[in-house]
Amino acid sequence: MKIANNAVVSVSYKLHANLPQEEKKHIETTDNAHPLTFLFGVGGLIPGFERNLDGLSPGDKFNFTLDASEAYGETDPNAVINLPIDIFKVDNVIDFEVLKTGNVLPMSDHEGNRMNGKVVSFNDKDVTMDFNHPLAGQALHFTGEVVDIRTASEEEISHGHAHSPGHHHH
Ligand code: ZN
Repeated sequence: MKIANNAVVSVSYKLHANLPQEEKKHIETTDNAHPLTFLFGVGGLIPGFERNLDGLSPGDKFNFTLDASEAYGETDPNAVINLPIDIFKVDNVIDFEVLKTGNVLPMSDHEGNRMNGKVVSFNDKDVTMDFNHPLAGQALHFTGEVVDIRTASEEEISHGHAHSPGHHHH
């Protein structure tokens, strides 16, 4: 069986990002005992990842690089914003163990959507935070192997995601 729409695909891989300041930064690894398993073709993964796996068979190896535009997108300068430092106060006090340059903090916008922001800098009045995805603007390099391919069940197709063995939900 080859990778195609409505196949449940398991892959093991190593991901490196090509960063300007470092040669290659290792981001994550999955192995054959704990592969990434997903329903192919529903768009749940970054766009370029599925395109490079299309048509592969179990045991096939892969090695490809995705530009930022095919991965997590270019860095958006409008996603770097200044916030009043007052919103970081809890009981009128700022915890500088939390508000620290480089820390990634869980935030929410006016509609209550949750998002992570990285503290870029701050002064007495304002905090500059970067809401870009941590991998935005970066080329990603994947090497790995197709571990398994199976036909998705009717239930998996209707849910739009793969189920792991013994997984039940309503
Ligand atoms: Zn489900």
